[in-house]
Order: sequence, then structure tokens, then C-alpha cells
Amino acid sequence: MNILVTGGAGYIGSHAVRQLLKASHSVVVYDDLSHGHKESIAAASSGLKTSAEFVQGNVADSKLFTDTLNRYSIDAVMHFAAFIEVGESVVDPEKYYRNNFTNALSMLHSLRSGPKNGVKKIVFSSTAATYGNPLTSPIQEDHPLLPINPYGRSKMMTELAIRDFAHAYGLGFAILRYFNVAGASPEVEGFGLGEAHEPESHLIPRVLAAAAGKSAAIGIFGTDYDTRDGTCIRDYVHVDDLAMAHVLALAKIQDGKGEVYNIGSQNGFSVREVIRACEKATGKTIPVEEKPRRAGDPATLVASSDKIRKELGWTPKYPDLETTVSHAWKWHQSHPMGYKSSR
Ligand code: UDP
Repeated sequence: MNILVTGGAGYIGSHAVRQLLKASHSVVVYDDLSHGHKESIAAASSGLKTSAEFVQGNVADSKLFTDTLNRYSIDAVMHFAAFIEVGESVVDPEKYYRNNFTNALSMLHSLRSGPKNGVKKIVFSSTAATYGNPLTSPIQEDHPLLPINPYGRSKMMTELAIRDFAHAYGLGFAILRYFNVAGASPEVEGFGLGEAHEPESHLIPRVLAAAAGKSAAIGIFGTDYDTRDGTCIRDYVHVDDLAMAHVLALAKIQDGKGEVYNIGSQNGFSVREVIRACEKATGKTIPVEEKPRRAGDPATLVASSDKIRKELGWTPKYPDLETTVSHAWKWHQSHPMGYKSSR
């Protein structure tokens, strides 16, 4: 298929681009490079027979977006482009509603005027943040959506729009609700594809920055949660396993129908446990500093991923947190300045 990947120069998007190319799809990355890195597009295809095309643009630019759909005869869109910081979404909700919801709606509108009576398949990057504070754990896909921050709400609103577009206009969809994603692709020589957010807010890269001596300590945001050691529990998945889930989900999409899948490991790790796994993987002692809670954080988020395992045969290749962390560490060591290290 001809696939357009919005946000394909970002962390998860670029890993998905690689898995799509490996599965013999033709890929066009559509990214405004506000957060993505052009270098990641080349890295995603390194060692492969084909590479992705690149169009620089924002999904809100309906003319460029629609022209791109037509120019490349796009069959399906994977929509990764979004802002992702929970804390920032609490302070600046408009930024999140505008980019993650309004621009997604504009993108959905453009799909209707795409080639061959419109593009009829979408894989959408959603999030465990749509569930809010879980009423049951591990969380199943039919758990009520009760997001507790604007980031989660902006993603939930896009999910609802996609469902309505499916019902009314025959769009076929797969909504993937990610839990926590980490690691880097071991397939790319020299660990040249990895996580480079600016600023970096995620736990694992920040712990590794502390291990590398780039920061004095890792701050633990809250030690008084109702969890086994007082710190938040999250469910971490290797980025290549997450990318593979997109390829599997895409293959099953039918016009006018859709499915929602959680992508997690079914194992929860506390912030302190993650720090210990990083100490093991790096062989370093990592100084910690206990800090107040971060706004918008639920205490525990652990996925039931039974549905995607059973229906799509998804089996994580890297189920173990230490392996995931050690891949992230290799990327971090070979790219201490992120993609700036490869310039
Ligand atoms: N966290 C932390 N220190 C940091 C970054 C994150 O203690 O420097 C905590 C955060 O409060 C949350 C967990 O680590 O409980 C995972 O946060 P992350 O931002 O990686 O992902 P999220 O779960 O928000 O998607």
C-alpha cells in the first residue's frame, strides 16, 4: 500500500516508517519538523532497499496535505503528528486542542477529498491518557474514557471524530492506545534511530541523561501515590514492538469499520523500579531527588493487551524492560546530542 505517515520524522513515527518499509509498503513522511528530525527519515531506511519520500508540511495546510495524498495515490494514513506532554497540556490547553484535535479534524476532512473517492484507512496514535485514573487494572479497551488532562481529552476527541467519520463516511480505522514507549531500534546500525525530544520530559531518557552525568540527578515526581513504593506505575513497551503493531493493525482495516487496541506489556513498573533497571543496564549509580507530584499524572496505568495479541497476533519481540532500556542507552551513548550528533 501507499502510506502517508504524519509525524513520520518523530520518535514513534520514524520507527513505524522503518517497519512499514520492511513490510514492502511505499511510505511518504509528512512532517512540519516542528519537533521531528529530518535525519530520522534517512535513519529509518538505513540498510533497506527502499526509502521514504518526505514532504515538509503541517496537516492543517489542507491544500498541501490533499495535494500530497493525490500525488502519491495514498491508500492509508498513519496519524502520529501531535503534541505529547501532559504537563504542558495542563498549562497551555489551547495548544493541545488546536494541534491534536482541530488539526486532526482538518486532516480527516482532507482524507475525504483524497484519491479514489477519498482515503478510507487510518491508523491513529492514541494514548492510555484517554482512560484517566483507571477504575480497573489492567485496563481493557472497553474501560470508560475519563481523561484527567487536556492531552488525554484532545486525543479522546479525535477518537470520537474518527468513529463518527467511520459511521457516516465509510472511513476504516485502527485506534492504538499507547501506554509508555521506550527504547531504540537495534536493527539500525550504530543505534542511529532513537528518541530525541526537545525538551525531553519522558522518564527513561531523563534517567539515562542522569546516568550519563548530563543532569545532576533524576527527579522523582511524587513519592506519595497509592502504589507499592509510592511512585507512579507505568507499562513500558519497546518502540519497535509498538511500530510493528501499526503494521499489523493496518493490514486488518476494513472500510467503515474500526477497532481499538491497547499496546502495552501488561507489566507495571514504578518510577523507582525503572531507575533500578537503568542502573543495571548502564552499570552506573543514578542519583535521585524526590520532588512533588507532576500535574495530571494518574497513579497507575497498566494495559491489558490481550485483544491485540489474540486478534492481530501481536507478540512483542522485546518484552523485557532491561533490554528496552539497554537499547535506549546505546542510542543515548552513540547520540549524546540526539540527531545533532549525526550532523
Ligand atoms: N517521571 C518522573 N521524573 C521525570 C519524568 C517522569 O518521576 O523526570 C514520572 C512521571 O511523573 C510519570 C512516569 O515517570 O509518573 C512516566 O512519565 P513519562 O513522562 O515518561 O510518561 P507518561 O506516563 O506521562 O506518558
